[in-house]
Amino acid sequence: MEMKRYTYKQLSDMDKSYIWHPFTQMKAWEKEEILIIEKGKGNYLIDVNGKRYLDGVSSLWTNVHGHRKRQLDNAVIRQLKGIAHSTFLGLSHPGAILLSKMLIDIAPEGLKRVFYSDNGATAVEIAIKMALQYWFNMGRPERYIFVSLNNAYHGDTIGSVSVGGIGLFHSTYKPLLFKTIKAPSPYCYRCELGLEYPSCSLACAKEIDSMLSAHEDSIAALIIEPMVQAAGGFIISPPGYFKAIREITKKHDVLLIADEVATGFGRTGRMFASEHEHISPDIMAIAKGLSGGYLPVAATLTTQRVYDAFLGDYEEKKTFYHGHTYTANPLGVAAAIENLEIFRKENILKKIQPKIRHLKKGLERIAGLEHVGQIRQLGLMTGIELVKDRETKQPYSFEQRTGAKVCYEIRKYGIFLRPLDDVVVLMPPLSITKQEISHLLDSVEKAIKTVTEQ
Ligand SMILES: *Cc1c(COP(=O)(O)O)cnc(C)c1O
Repeated sequence: MEMKRYTYKQLSDMDKSYIWHPFTQMKAWEKEEILIIEKGKGNYLIDVNGKRYLDGVSSLWTNVHGHRKRQLDNAVIRQLKGIAHSTFLGLSHPGAILLSKMLIDIAPEGLKRVFYSDNGATAVEIAIKMALQYWFNMGRPERYIFVSLNNAYHGDTIGSVSVGGIGLFHSTYKPLLFKTIKAPSPYCYRCELGLEYPSCSLACAKEIDSMLSAHEDSIAALIIEPMVQAAGGFIISPPGYFKAIREITKKHDVLLIADEVATGFGRTGRMFASEHEHISPDIMAIAKGLSGGYLPVAATLTTQRVYDAFLGDYEEKKTFYHGHTYTANPLGVAAAIENLEIFRKENILKKIQPKIRHLKKGLERIAGLEHVGQIRQLGLMTGIELVKDRETKQPYSFEQRTGAKVCYEIRKYGIFLRPLDDVVVLMPPLSITKQEISHLLDSVEKAIKTVTEQ
């Protein structure tokens, strides 16, 4: 099909006739002027009319080094000339072998094995089933309860939703969800316990300690997004919190699952967010940035201890009976290898440090705006929480869609953003330049002012 033959209008009409978009109220979509992206270049998306938009959320937190990155393009093309896909069930391939070694080399210490899949939710489902079967295989089937956090987001499949904690996304599906124990979110701006950091002495972590004491013999694992609860509103945990969680889970011999799907691959200024407090989880889920934002590849990493519990003779039935058809797809894996090569060759983690400082400095001005309640930033991840009243922290009403309006307004300045409710999210590719950061911040300031002063 020759796409060039279609005008914007025709494409838009067909979209609105045939498609159901994710996380989208289609009634509103059908009335909006929609963006149809045809190309990308560097940190920009280019629509079918040739208009450029700075990709301010990295195409939903995936893109790392920009679009059309030559080395990544070439890696995928090279692999395409070999083979596009072969199964990983009963076969292996060189790319996956090499990538596994590369991942283990950079992962937090103690993670020794890589189990592949194809997106964040599957990586989390695997983590959950792995943790449960670990205890089963160890002769402790009564340890099957999971502890997860309020405001957590781990994906949209039923297992991932079960450990989720965002009412708007998750409450409808309650009849289908398995039982979990919910712990407070480390959301200092709106502390569930009504306390203040640091005088609280991390009371929210201590509450988890009590929960684990009370249910120690029935808990399989605690799952958490390290340092940043991303989809929950870019909630950044206070210093020492994640370290405390690691100590508490160790004390009760509960497995710690770190969901680094959003935070992995440099987003927080380190390769993995777990590094900020020198944490090694028992299981780690990665996806989004793993392939540089090119193709759906994901992985669940674990320790020798967990892996060993699955070894046995066939008749012992300790095998991990889980797999996805496109596990370790060779095209995606080729992109992932090249992604990690770029991190190394271009010294990306060092290069982003001045950008992070530039962003931090620029955000100070926005923090002064009348309707900005709090700005939360770690590395290149930023959440700007808009409120109706700064003094009382009173939020805007849900139907006002203030965050969405700001993101719509900012398109005028050639920027694409997608909010989380009234949190304006900035999550640019690591390749963003200082000038682009300045333009992004100036535009965010103008858009917030325009929308909130109406
Ligand atoms: C996006 C996300 C997921 C889900 O990933 P998908 O690829 O969309 O399934 C899981 N966990 C976290 C922390 C995420 O941000």
